[in-house]
Amino acid sequence: MRVLVTGGAGFLGSHLCETLLQRGYEVICLDNFFTGKKSNIAHLFEWSGFEIVRHDIVEPILLEVDQIYNLACPASPHHYQHNPVKTIKTNILGTLHMLGIAKRVGATVLQASTSEVYGDPLVHPQVESYWGNVNPIGPRSCYDEGKRVAETLMFDYHRNSGVDIRVIRIFNTYGPRMAEDDGRVISNFIVQALRGEDLTIYGEGNQTRSFCYVDDLIRGMIQAMDHPTLKGPVNLGNDDERTILELAELILRMTDSRSKIQRLPLPKDDPTRRQPDLGVARSVLGYEPLVAVEEGLERTIAFFRGKLRS
Ligand code: NAD
Ligand code: UDP
Repeated sequence: MRVLVTGGAGFLGSHLCETLLQRGYEVICLDNFFTGKKSNIAHLFEWSGFEIVRHDIVEPILLEVDQIYNLACPASPHHYQHNPVKTIKTNILGTLHMLGIAKRVGATVLQASTSEVYGDPLVHPQVESYWGNVNPIGPRSCYDEGKRVAETLMFDYHRNSGVDIRVIRIFNTYGPRMAEDDGRVISNFIVQALRGEDLTIYGEGNQTRSFCYVDDLIRGMIQAMDHPTLKGPVNLGNDDERTILELAELILRMTDSRSKIQRLPLPKDDPTRRQPDLGVARSVLGYEPLVAVEEGLERTIAFFRGKLRS
């Protein structure tokens, strides 16, 4: 089995490459290193089945593979808003190119979609049948609408050309190998707490997210790819919902930090509530998140402690 992982040098991609190699697959990791790092995958070169291709999926490429996991796209708001047009191109042209490969060689293609397709949701928890509440012209739109069009392309290629597709909607996932400067809330809070800096809460901190540990997410992603009939979309994550203030207080306690909390303005269109309905994942995939937030945070804090020390 030869598998292509786009965005393979990123946070989720590097964990996925590692798990696939452990399963005995050949893995081609494709990345343009915008937010990915060689250090995330350096340890994978000891596997003879591992290859790396420096490439930008906005440009076409010819490869012979059995499966494609399409993860290439910056995921943190800070990174995807840096060059919004590039984010749209990555989601639309990049997904088109991956679907083109899948159609030509008969590969199965999995698209890493996102809870952001629900926007600032009016239905809670979010079920896959909910069409979302997305601002088409705001600062988050390049990502949200890009991912929505990518889902549309997946289903049109499936209906019109018979391409075998999987669409997963990933909810906030964290863990070791997150970039310390990516601006996401868990990496920000842990790094701030360990450095003794103020924890920056945007708004009052009443907004919620449901945080999933990376190992759970990767297992669910592979379960989705390996399912014989599922096309999706299927939500993947952990449905343990917390406010951002609760998260900040938990991280302060767990790091034994003397940092204070500082309140900064809430970014435009920041979703107020987010929690996956995992009914489809549980009943169709047999998926269950196993790592409690406290346990996942402990492992992530240990990772950042080591990183900051070195
Ligand atoms: P990440 O930023 O760590 O990884 C993205 C990877 O894609 C990086 O290695 C980057 O260099 C690469 N990349 C970006 N644009 C590219 C391009 N044009 N060509 C080739 N490579 C490119 O982010 P992540 O958290 O690992 O997210 C991976 C995927 O999962 C993304 O598609 C993201 O939208 C999706 N996702 C992640 C989360 C999460 O909480 N982590 C939530 C929802 C969806
Ligand atoms: N957030 C925060 N402080 C930070 C970073 C993020 O309060 O230093 C908030 C942010 O406003 C959002 C939540 O935490 O409400 C999750 O933000 P993140 O960027 O991690 O993910 P997303 O908004 O894409 O879910």
